[in-house]
Amino acid sequence: MAALVERLYPLCRSITGDGVRQTLAMVGESIPLTVHEVESGTEVLDWTVPPEWNITDAYVADPSGRKVIDFRESNLHVVGYSVPVHATMSLDELAPHLHTLPEQPSLVPYRTSYYEPTWGFCLAHDVYESLVDGEYEVCVDSTLAPGSLTYAEHVVPGQVADEVLVSCHVCHPSLANDNLAGIAVAVNLALALAEENPWYTYRFVFAPGTIGAITWLARNAERVERVRHGLVLACAGDAGSLTYKRSRRADAEIDRVLAYVLRDRPHRIVDFSPYGYDERQYCSPGFNLGVGCLTRTPYGGYPEYHTSADDPAFVSAESMADTLAVCRRACAVLDRNRRYVNQFPYGEPQLGRRGLYDSLGGRSDAKAAQLAMLWVLNYSDGEHSLLDIAEKSTVDFEAVVAAADALLAAGLIKE
Ligand SMILES: [Zn+2]
Repeated sequence: MAALVERLYPLCRSITGDGVRQTLAMVGESIPLTVHEVESGTEVLDWTVPPEWNITDAYVADPSGRKVIDFRESNLHVVGYSVPVHATMSLDELAPHLHTLPEQPSLVPYRTSYYEPTWGFCLAHDVYESLVDGEYEVCVDSTLAPGSLTYAEHVVPGQVADEVLVSCHVCHPSLANDNLAGIAVAVNLALALAEENPWYTYRFVFAPGTIGAITWLARNAERVERVRHGLVLACAGDAGSLTYKRSRRADAEIDRVLAYVLRDRPHRIVDFSPYGYDERQYCSPGFNLGVGCLTRTPYGGYPEYHTSADDPAFVSAESMADTLAVCRRACAVLDRNRRYVNQFPYGEPQLGRRGLYDSLGGRSDAKAAQLAMLWVLNYSDGEHSLLDIAEKSTVDFEAVVAAADALLAAGLIKE
């Protein structure tokens, strides 16, 4: 995951353009992707796919001809979607086009202007302060032209057509935690699920933020009904503990599963709000999908957020592995969370006669397994899921599943 973040980091991504295509090509080396190109001008819900943006070079040269801001050093130096410009101007004329962080004077901010045609540069405030009066050469060698918006999907087939959606934004340029770490975790989650013959079909969507998710939703009206659960993955690699943002429904199964999986570790659970990542689109009232958002330190919650300090050194392999482990456990719980009906609900069925005590002979946790069976039998009324039973009983979910499997094999419960 760390190696993938390193490789993806230098690419100049935006909501359209070759940076996204190169990113998807790199992701495609690990997991096969279906790449979709949606023409500029296409209406998607209330939006329109914008012209495609590409950039080859950009710089500002000072009166002595020295490049004081250079896109080739970092793609963060150019405001995303800057229109082309090649001009000479005074520092006063240039200043409104320069963006800095006076509070973090050594860092370069990340700025975009997708829907407002303008150009601009981002630089460290320290550098800005050192600029001398005189004539500056300004160059943005970019194109904004009819093209397409690019997004990709990867599907891990399940035993049923019902889907779990895992969504990552792929539009940020050289920013590691937001969201190359999320992409890296998603790729490895897909690889892990492929080994496991999952119950649900898992659909991974790699799309530019906002417009990409909106485009996916617009083009998948029928599929949306099959999305049972979902997770937006972002900021998956910083040193902070995990934060889960609930779906708009607040009590969707994914919300309960994440609360369960996170309960024994430091974490935060926050309610849905219509700001953040693409859960905003999936949880817009018309769709209202059971899609939550998993991050480590959330959106805007760390000083490196949307600055040049969100670099590969800011994320760690350990943190990404930890996020991945939680995602895998959440998928495992989701996959095995079923409801059963006790076929012998009048009095307790005789477990010994059916070999259910014997089958546990020699197991040191036999007593715990018996207890789990009693819980599953009692609460398998078609209303309570295995997760409900795990929560009620404080028996581990995995032990509840094992009990349900044994009872199912003995014909005592039915799905
Ligand atoms: Zn961001």
